[in-house]
Amino acid sequence: MNLVFATNNLNKLKEVQTLVPQHIKLLSLKDIGCFEDVPETQTTIEGNAIQKAEYIKTHYGYNCFADDTGLEVEALNNEPGVFSARYAGEQRNAHDNMDLLLKNLSEKPNRNAQFKTVIALHLNGDIKTFTGLCKGEIMLKKTGNKGFGYDPIFKPLGHNQTFAEMSLDLKNTIGHRGKAIKQLMAFLNHF
Ligand code: IMP
Repeated sequence: MNLVFATNNLNKLKEVQTLVPQHIKLLSLKDIGCFEDVPETQTTIEGNAIQKAEYIKTHYGYNCFADDTGLEVEALNNEPGVFSARYAGEQRNAHDNMDLLLKNLSEKPNRNAQFKTVIALHLNGDIKTFTGLCKGEIMLKKTGNKGFGYDPIFKPLGHNQTFAEMSLDLKNTIGHRGKAIKQLMAFLNHF
């Protein structure tokens, strides 16, 4: 069975490719000739994941899945959430985003936060979602140079390193995206 992963992020594609069961052939957006921006205009992380999966099904006819991730900060009413990529503006710059978040949190004693990944699977006409959460806290300053996005200021619960200081293996094991992908794979393995 062909299954499209609706992403242009080659790192994500590579990571998932090694985990898919053998009876499934994973296709990229490039493989199906999709070169336009897939719309993600919803106001929730779930909404965006579903919108992307539905777009591919409607326009290209393939079974597919799409993911969307956001960082939810308790003291900021769960912002930046769905706006995580462009929190500080359309330049989508990770350092600008982290600087703004640190500034907005500077007066707040509660620094609890969580990453949330939702994967929406569009399979034979049905839509199913899988959610992966990783709870932690926002540090006072950036530490570490691995990873991407908000990794240098996010320390997962029960660990003494930020995501940007730990190995990718450990991040994938305890992280939001890894947890959501694991659920998706368990479902596909029994399908
Ligand atoms: P996306 O939906 O995976 O493209 O993620 C949206 C935005 O959330 C990214 O541009 C990053 O700012 C942030 N983000 C997503 N996943 C991570 C992560 O694992 N670490 C840090 N930031 C992330």
